[in-house]
Amino acid sequence: MEKILNYIDGKLIEPSSNKYLDNFNPSNGRVYSLIPDSNSNDINNAVSSAKKAFENWGSSTKKYRYDILMKIADKLEEHADALVKAESLDNGKPESLARMVDIPRAPENFRFFATAMLHFSSESHDMDGKALNYTLREPLGVAACISPWNLPLYLLTWKIAPALAAGNTVVAKPSEITPMTAYLLSKICIEAGLPAGVLNIVHGLGSNIGDALTTHEDVPIVSFTGGTLTGQHIARVAAPMFKKLSLELGGKNPNIIFEDANFEKSVAIAVKAAFSNQGQICLCGSRLFIQDTIYEKFKEALLKKVSKLIVGNPRDENTDLGAVVSKEHMGKVLSKIEEAKALGGKILIGGNRKIIEGELSAGYYLEPTVIEGLDFNCSVNQEEIFGPVLSLIPFKNEEDVVMMANSTKYGLSASIFTENISRGHRVAAKIKSGVVWINTWLLRDLRIPFGGMKQSGVGREGGFKSLQFFTEPKNVCLKI
Ligand code: NAD
Repeated sequence: MEKILNYIDGKLIEPSSNKYLDNFNPSNGRVYSLIPDSNSNDINNAVSSAKKAFENWGSSTKKYRYDILMKIADKLEEHADALVKAESLDNGKPESLARMVDIPRAPENFRFFATAMLHFSSESHDMDGKALNYTLREPLGVAACISPWNLPLYLLTWKIAPALAAGNTVVAKPSEITPMTAYLLSKICIEAGLPAGVLNIVHGLGSNIGDALTTHEDVPIVSFTGGTLTGQHIARVAAPMFKKLSLELGGKNPNIIFEDANFEKSVAIAVKAAFSNQGQICLCGSRLFIQDTIYEKFKEALLKKVSKLIVGNPRDENTDLGAVVSKEHMGKVLSKIEEAKALGGKILIGGNRKIIEGELSAGYYLEPTVIEGLDFNCSVNQEEIFGPVLSLIPFKNEEDVVMMANSTKYGLSASIFTENISRGHRVAAKIKSGVVWINTWLLRDLRIPFGGMKQSGVGREGGFKSLQFFTEPKNVCLKI
C-alpha cells in the first residue's frame, strides 16, 4: 500500500514516530494509502529547515523566486492528469470537477502570485519636501499554511504560492483527510528544483501537530483555512504570541431570489451553488431565500433539476455528485437531516444515504437533499452543514430577507438574483458578508479581497492583499 511521506528539508521522509494513519477512498470506503502520523518532532524539524532556508530564500531576488514558482506551475500542468485522479480518489469529488476546477487552479495560483510579486509596490509619504517616508515590505520568515479537505490542492497552493513569492519559507499542514495531492506537490517541487527547506509539508492530525506548528516560536505568521471552531482555537493559542493571523472560516451563505430574477438562470445557479462538490464548498449557497410570489413555481423548477442530478462513481464523466469526504462527515450530514425533520422540516427530495450497488457499495454517497418549512432561526438554518443539503425559505420583501440573510454568526458570501440593478446594489450594500455576487455564484477574480465577516474569518487574502499579509511593512523616514 502506498505510503505518503513528509517533505522536510527537500527530502521525502518517514514520520519520526514511524506510525501511519489510514487514508480512505470515499468512493468505496476502503483504505488505499497511509498517512504519516507526525508529531511535534517532525514539526520542529520542518520549522528549523524552513528557518535555515529563509537565510537565502528571504533575500533572493523576486525574479529568482518567480522562475522557480513558474517551473512548479509548469510541472503541475505536466502532471495534471495524475493530480486530477489523485484528488478525486482522495476526496470523493467527481474527476470532471477536479479537472475543471481544482487542479487548474493550482498552477494558476503559482503563476498569479509569482507574477503579482513582480508588480507589488509599496508606499512613500512625502512631508512637504522636508522628509520622505518610504515603506519597505519584507518577508517575515517561516509561514505556517494550514488547509482543509474540500479543495485540497486548490486551497493549499492559494496559501503556499503567495507566501513563497513574498520571500517567506513555509511549513504546510494539509488536511489529514485529503493528503495525497500535497504529497504529489512535494515530489513536483523536488523535480522543479525548489531549494531544500523552502517548502516543507508535514502530514498528520491537526489535534497532534496543529499546536506545535501554530505556537512554534520560530513561526511568526499563520494562514489558516478551515472550520470556525478550529480557527477560534488557533486564534486563542497564537494571538497571545502576537503572530500575524489570517483566518478563512466557515459559512452559511444566503442565496436570494427576487421575483424579478431571470428565472431559468437563477434556478440553474441555485442548484449549482447548493450541490457542487457535494455541497462541500465554503461558498455554497445552502440557504435559499425565494420571494413568496414565485416560491411554488421556483421550488417546482428547482426540484425538477435536482431530481436529474446523478450521484455516482466519481470517475464517470456524467456524475454530478460523487462521494462526501468521509464516513464521519456523512454521518454528520445525515444527523443534520434528522435534526431538520425533528424541527418540523419537510424533506422535498433526497434525505438519505445512497448505496451504489457493486464495488462502490460502501462508498459515502448522499442524495442531494432539499428541505422546506424550517424557521430561518433554527439550528439547521444557522449552523454550517457542509454537505448536499439545501433549505428553502420564503420571504416577503427586501427588509425581511436582509434580516434573515444576516441572522447567522457567519458572513462569508451571498448571492442576489434580480434584474433590477438598483435593488441588486441596495441589497448587496446591506448584506453582511465578505463577498456578494449579483446574478452569479463563485465567479472568482484572484485579485479581489477574499474573506469573511463575523465568524467567517479575519483578514482578506487574494491579489496584493495576500502579498501584504505575507510581508511586514517597515517605514523608513529620511529627514532631508
Ligand atoms: P478543520 O478546521 O477541521 O481542519 C482544517 C485544517 O486544520 C486541517 O488541516 C486540520 O488538520 C487542521 N487542524 C485541526 N486542528 C488544528 C489545530 N488545533 N491547530 C492547527 N490546525 C488544526 O476544517 P475542515 O473540516 O478540514 O474543512 C471544512 C471547513 O473549512 C468548513 O467549515 C469550511 O467552510 C471551511 N472552509 C473555509 C474556506 C474559506 O475560504 N473561508 C474555504 C474552504 C473551507
